[in-house]
Amino acid sequence: MRRILIVGAGQSGLQLALGLQANGYEVTLMSNRTADEIRTGRVMSTQCMFHTALQHERDIQANFWESQAPKIKGLGVSVAAPDSSRAVDWVGMLDGHAQSVDQRVKMAGWMETFAERGGQVVIHGAAVSDLDYFARAYDLVMVSAGKGELVSMFERDAERSPFSTPQRALSVAYVHGMGPRPEHPEFDAVRCNLVPGVGELFVMPTYTLSGRADILFWEGIPGGPLDAFQGVKDPSEHLALTLELLEKFLPWEYARSTQVELTDAGGTLAGRYAPTVRKPVGRLPSGGLVLGVADVVVANDPVTGQGSNSASKCAASYLSSILERGDRPFDEEWMQATFDGYWETARHVVKWTNAMLGTAPEHVLKLIGSGMRYQQVADRFANGFDNPADFENFFFDPEKTEAYLAEVAQADAA
Ligand SMILES: Cc1cc2nc3c(=O)[nH]c(=O)nc-3n(C[C@H](O)[C@H](O)[C@H](O)COP(=O)(O)OP(=O)(O)OC[C@H]3O[C@@H](n4cnc5c(N)ncnc54)[C@H](O)[C@@H]3O)c2cc1C
Repeated sequence: MRRILIVGAGQSGLQLALGLQANGYEVTLMSNRTADEIRTGRVMSTQCMFHTALQHERDIQANFWESQAPKIKGLGVSVAAPDSSRAVDWVGMLDGHAQSVDQRVKMAGWMETFAERGGQVVIHGAAVSDLDYFARAYDLVMVSAGKGELVSMFERDAERSPFSTPQRALSVAYVHGMGPRPEHPEFDAVRCNLVPGVGELFVMPTYTLSGRADILFWEGIPGGPLDAFQGVKDPSEHLALTLELLEKFLPWEYARSTQVELTDAGGTLAGRYAPTVRKPVGRLPSGGLVLGVADVVVANDPVTGQGSNSASKCAASYLSSILERGDRPFDEEWMQATFDGYWETARHVVKWTNAMLGTAPEHVLKLIGSGMRYQQVADRFANGFDNPADFENFFFDPEKTEAYLAEVAQADAA
């Protein structure tokens, strides 16, 4: 039986651990926190996951919260005009629903399931020297420790990383008590509110420790008016600031939020990081090799809500690569090829996410504006969150955008 060590119990590490365990591998999972510490700790993400990523969880029978979590059927876009009215406002319908399950619920639950099924969990914040020691006892060591310190083992890929500083200041509040969305009270959707030159607010329904809730997630351009959460330690102060900014920039979202309260004392988060792509193979001091997984090797800004989706896709892709390898060694060539297989998906996410962090060019503004007139444009844009590769066909190149919009207008006129 092949022995595998996974360091980091997040979306990718636990999904891989459960998938490998189900296939008969002897898996050890190293986590710097116990399941209870994760459950009672601070929120980590907004974790909205789309159909393909959710299907990977279903494939390994790990979709435990699917019936409880709100089904997100659409994705809306609003663009604030200078007078705080809405210059753009539409909702695209997703082909398959999306869902957000608080990572505190999911990771704690998955970790317990992994242990109940006989998996070995070691609670330890691993350092490089630990990995050096452990690596000798395993056929393969994978590092799925997110954006933590272990990333220093993996060289930054400068060609694939255009930014060296954070592009957004992030702040999150999980709340109960949001009013219904007047535009479409009959179904749930995630809403991207764009405030040009200032940042974005994402509002999404989620399933948290206390049941259904909503998340208010500001992405502020560094140095701008939304970059105001650093140093705010008190959760109620954090919520008050979130709402103050809502009232100022997005009055239609504020109108739904006047009665909200935090879900729990751990329901807020603030931080920032630079989007970074890294080389996938880390070399230990004694010469052993480790393979980087998900955010360790490709960390995107959450402006497109892709990190958990990508972590799920990375775990699924690595799982099949491991299974295909059979009894042959997990050598450097295999590690590189395994990452390259994932990169075929990840490169589209990186390109689109980095584009969304910049100022939108004229043709993109026109495309987004067209979602108001043509439902099929809104739908296609929304489904791009599930399959970002599709943006190659109608988003980046002004000529392709024009051709697509002409095709849509023609079909509409017919
Ligand atoms: C504010 C915010 C909003 C987001 N919203 C979305 C969204 O809507 N949709 C989406 O798809 N993505 C979103 N993301 C991104 C997403 O949460 C991450 O990309 C995803 O969780 C990455 O998964 P991972 O498995 O790579 O790492 P993580 O989920 O970060 O897991 C890493 C784990 O490793 C542990 N660890 C760290 N160091 C060590 C160590 N030395 N030893 C042992 N364990 C260690 C950590 O405690 C953690 O449990 C968001 C992120 C943020 C910050």
